[in-house]
Amino acid sequence: MRIGIDLGGTKIEGIALAADGREFHRRRIAAPQGSYDESVRALTGLVDALEAETRERGTVGVGIPGAISPATGLIKNANSTWLIGKPLAEDLSRALARPVRLANDANCFALSEATDGAGAGAAVVFGVIIGTGTGGGVVVNGRVLAGANAIAGEWGHNPMPAAEDDERPGAACYCGRSGCIETWLSGPALSRDYATSGGDQVSAVEIAARAAQGEARATAAMARYERRFARAIASIINLLDPDVIVLGGGLSNIERLYANVPALWSPFVFSDRVDTRLVRAKHGDASGVRGAAWLWEESGFRPSWGSR
Ligand SMILES: [Zn+2]
Repeated sequence: MRIGIDLGGTKIEGIALAADGREFHRRRIAAPQGSYDESVRALTGLVDALEAETRERGTVGVGIPGAISPATGLIKNANSTWLIGKPLAEDLSRALARPVRLANDANCFALSEATDGAGAGAAVVFGVIIGTGTGGGVVVNGRVLAGANAIAGEWGHNPMPAAEDDERPGAACYCGRSGCIETWLSGPALSRDYATSGGDQVSAVEIAARAAQGEARATAAMARYERRFARAIASIINLLDPDVIVLGGGLSNIERLYANVPALWSPFVFSDRVDTRLVRAKHGDASGVRGAAWLWEESGFRPSWGSR
């Protein structure tokens, strides 16, 4: 049995998977806020509960909202800031008396979709999560590409390619720069763009719904969004040349993206034709937790991302 845990900002989800990907059991708890020790206890308690329920002992993989520094083994880049600088892999391994593997949550998402999701069978999968941010993860031949700095796939803080005059310098980003891809493509970014053009403050999915009903302002905002998405993702295609780009997160529910973005990306891709597919995640919100469970399926896992 494989246990996967998705450590989110507000909730922690746990899943017990059979070797064939069948789900034995799932459990969700609130994420402790502000305390590292309580977070470790909550994670350990969740594993105990899943094992009590299934009466089996499992391998444990954990998706985290950040990364483990390959240099130090400590958590970095986590928006759950109380985890930063902590040896979470080591502490969990000790508490659970077994090796535990940790990986960035977007990497878990990409691994899940590459293993038995919308990217199954593809050699190169780029997993994109667009919601409050724009995360990304890369899986090559069934293996997460972690990277020397543990940031592979983090396309959201590149500048918007081929920025138009009215897109410069762009909005300030929390990373310290301006006009990052995330400041154009996240859900809040689409909401802001619509509001700036005279609309009211509504969610990205609502803007798409209004466009579907023919509202001109929403239609224009969606068209701008799709052109930006096409330019941003074309630079990923040039660099990585993925077979499949799998979209997850809240904005993956906007159906028109799957036809409209590929129709716009060719002028920015250095190729006579583009066979890359843009598809919706098969496992939806469950991909993070499933990918965490699959971390023990992966061959050649980097030791610096967990203990053995
Ligand atoms: Zn940024």
